[in-house]
Amino acid sequence: MSKKVVIVGGGVAGLSAGIYSAMNGFETEIIEMHTVAGGQCTAWDRKGYRFDYCLHWLVGTSQGAFNEIWKETNVINDDTEIIDHEIHSRILDDQGNEFIIYSNIDQWEKYLIELAPEDKSSIKKMCTDMRKSALMEPFETAPELRNPLDNIKMLPKMLPLLNVIRKYGRMTCGEYFEKLNFKSDKIKNIFFTMYGDSDFSALFFIFMLGWYHQKNAGYIKGGSYPMAHRMVEKFEKLGGKMSYKKKVEKIIVENNVAKGVFLSDGTKIEADYVISAADGYSTIFKMLDGKYVSKEIDFAYKNWKLFTPIVQVSFGINKSIPCETSNVSHICNDKWIGKTKLDKGYSIMNYWFDTTMAPEGKTSIALRFESPWELWEMMDEAAYQAEKLQITKDATALLEKEYPGILEFIEVTDVATPKTDVKYTGVKDGAYEGFFPSKENLMKSLKMQLPKLRNFYMAGQWLYPGGGLPPSAQSGKWVIQLICKKEKQKFVADK
Ligand SMILES: Cc1cc2nc3c(=O)[nH]c(=O)nc-3n(C[C@H](O)[C@H](O)[C@H](O)COP(=O)(O)OP(=O)(O)OC[C@H]3O[C@@H](n4cnc5c(N)ncnc54)[C@H](O)[C@@H]3O)c2cc1C
Repeated sequence: MSKKVVIVGGGVAGLSAGIYSAMNGFETEIIEMHTVAGGQCTAWDRKGYRFDYCLHWLVGTSQGAFNEIWKETNVINDDTEIIDHEIHSRILDDQGNEFIIYSNIDQWEKYLIELAPEDKSSIKKMCTDMRKSALMEPFETAPELRNPLDNIKMLPKMLPLLNVIRKYGRMTCGEYFEKLNFKSDKIKNIFFTMYGDSDFSALFFIFMLGWYHQKNAGYIKGGSYPMAHRMVEKFEKLGGKMSYKKKVEKIIVENNVAKGVFLSDGTKIEADYVISAADGYSTIFKMLDGKYVSKEIDFAYKNWKLFTPIVQVSFGINKSIPCETSNVSHICNDKWIGKTKLDKGYSIMNYWFDTTMAPEGKTSIALRFESPWELWEMMDEAAYQAEKLQITKDATALLEKEYPGILEFIEVTDVATPKTDVKYTGVKDGAYEGFFPSKENLMKSLKMQLPKLRNFYMAGQWLYPGGGLPPSAQSGKWVIQLICKKEKQKFVADK
């Protein structure tokens, strides 16, 4: 008789845990409260258009331990088409001044030096840090299973990178830019506005472009929905059971051992192991009633900042709108969409480059902006509907400014708010990537096991500040490595 593993949540972390669990011979069931799997990694169809919510970049599209995971979980297979954009993003200010971030660091360095020759040495220094960060190699095994030899083996490759981590691991982007001492107002203005005005970790910024430079952070054609769907396919092919439209209310615990789950309809599902890949706060403080909280967890949930949620306004355009740069970020002073002041600007993503996103001759476009949870939390239904209407109006005006004359071609408009995200995924306060990566927490993570609770594990973005698809999927693999160790069986991973 194989042992039973029940997984709460069918996002990327839950699906990954499910795949490795089934691959290792456990009877596995994923319980997902929504009608589809994927969690944050999702998209929806409206009148022939597909509106993607998640995928911009996927670390591990070409190499390394994340790449192995994507192949093992069927995210990347022989038919997957990967798109590497030459331009990471184009940034425009209110006066129409343009600033480009190239994916290739050599190209970006040349561009920056031409733009600000007075900052040549600072630019070179920053780009050297970024090139070194491309050496970052994720570990294949869970931290609990590593021996000192594993760390030593990584050392020669990681040595130049360790220096970058030592120097900037506890610095914010703002502090990093100060240290580089840029003189050009244009560079200072863009860098500080885009990345420098919060606690945003310097390392996160440095690493991001390192991965792009390596062509190891591409976009997968088809976007988020087929990506999650391919994982479901693999899970079911391995004999796993997906249960949709079922919400887990409580984790069943007897004598500090997890024994299964209770669903909101009263159903009891027994299991030998329970993994929660659902929202971290709900798992720890609601499903487990806050009975298994370590000092680290207590500190994190009380002190670490969360990602500010976003609003996404999607447009279906009855016209082909070719573009050179898919993602344009606007920085602005004193602009509003609905009740949100656009302190962090807004972005417009044109999906023309992915032909699966709209019928032939048409285009899907998404406008996104950050909007604090406090604005949405207490909004009643009437105010909510009025706000959605105002957002549609304001966002449409900004789209018309970007693409003059587009107005008459808009045939579908769709607004997804922080409330939408909370409703469909249960994510705390709409923090779609969990804890915000700051200088305080970027080098930290939360443990997959809770103190004194046996046969229970956590997976997913809430363990790793910064969140993201790769660490979420990786935690699913690591959890099963731990369960295999406990069962004294060899962990296997097949493609
Ligand atoms: C707009 C946007 C853009 C992003 N862009 C990128 C990107 O380009 N690259 C990248 O790497 N990452 C990106 N991310 C982040 C990435 O999507 C997330 O970090 C990742 O998908 C989190 O996966 P997860 O499985 O840990 O959690 P989730 O996706 O939140 O999954 C949790 C699942 O649990 C289910 N659930 C919750 N409670 C219960 C319950 N009680 N019972 C049953 N089921 C439950 C939910 O419905 C959900 O399916 C983006 C996210 C967003 C929203």
